[in-house]
Amino acid sequence: MSKILAFAEVREGELRNVSFETVAAARHIDESGEVVAVVFGGIDLEELGNEMIKFGADRAVTVSDDKLREFTADAYTQAAMAVIEQEDPDAIVMGHTSAGKDLSPRVASKLSSGLISDVTQIEGTGDEVQFVRPIYSGKAFEKKVIKDGKTFFTIRPNNIAPLEKDDSRSGDVTSVDVEIKDLRTIVKEVIRKASDGVDLSEANIIVAGGRGVKSEEGFEPLYSLADELDAAVGASRGACDAGYCDYSLQIGQTGKVVTPDLYIACGISGAIQHLAGMSNSKVIVAINKDPEANIFNVADYGIVGDLFDVVPKLTEEIKAL
Ligand code: FAD
Repeated sequence: MSKILAFAEVREGELRNVSFETVAAARHIDESGEVVAVVFGGIDLEELGNEMIKFGADRAVTVSDDKLREFTADAYTQAAMAVIEQEDPDAIVMGHTSAGKDLSPRVASKLSSGLISDVTQIEGTGDEVQFVRPIYSGKAFEKKVIKDGKTFFTIRPNNIAPLEKDDSRSGDVTSVDVEIKDLRTIVKEVIRKASDGVDLSEANIIVAGGRGVKSEEGFEPLYSLADELDAAVGASRGACDAGYCDYSLQIGQTGKVVTPDLYIACGISGAIQHLAGMSNSKVIVAINKDPEANIFNVADYGIVGDLFDVVPKLTEEIKAL
């Protein structure tokens, strides 16, 4: 039986969805293994540890320290190394999020271990396990294994479904004291951008706008549609560069990589750099007035038309359901 550490991610005192996905991924690689959730933060973490157990972990280890209130590579690496040394796991899984992308290679390097990043699928189990990850901006997939040392991997959010929550599950939540010192970076203040509430990287539905939206006001019909669908709004770099929206909405090779259940692309041409961030979405709907637009090559459903005509009609139809 193996021991697997599943790292949680906490934002503003709450567990992000990817936390439950790491537990599911850990369970997948060894169903009968011991899955230990790891939770860091600046508050009392017992409740969050228990939540991880309800989502399938056997027990949880927490490190609570004011220096872990916000992610810094320095502080989180020290906390992670302390937990890994204490637990000596066979495998480690983290989210392939901005924090996970920063933390995992540092930890792998300190452990002199391999690292398979951005896993979207896990095949087989136990000794037969193989990790599937996209390459060449999602044009191909490779299957990887780590032959020596700890099996260390990160998972792309929204690809490995969390296990069903079971309120009857219980387990130990223990806290570890770690002396976090010699920090080179300290977060003094976090100024969050106003958000519509749905986190782009974890959204099940995304309505994205491109240069075809034409202005900041042009995004308004997209926000109305997103409200009806409980969706997040995203954008192409074309729209961001033109100043129609904030760069935090950018999806693509140099923006966020998303895998929602439904991606609605409005006025986006489908440049390769944009496709790199969204082409693995489960269902893609494209609205574009140019029937030759490249986005239609990856779309499951295409609507050739003016987005200012189509999007409000779609919103009305959904409202009427
Ligand atoms: P356009 O290509 O101008 O397309 C606009 C589309 O809107 C057209 O297809 C047009 O037919 C349609 N349209 C216009 N009016 C309407 C209307 N009323 N109704 C319906 N359709 C309409 N891009 C990204 O998105 N993400 C990235 O991360 C990214 N990274 C990059 C990295 C590098 C190194 C480079 C070189 C480029 C990168 N780009 C990225 C830019 C990318 O190459 C494209 O320039 C960009 O994606 C184009 O954005 P767009 O599709 O919104 O604009």
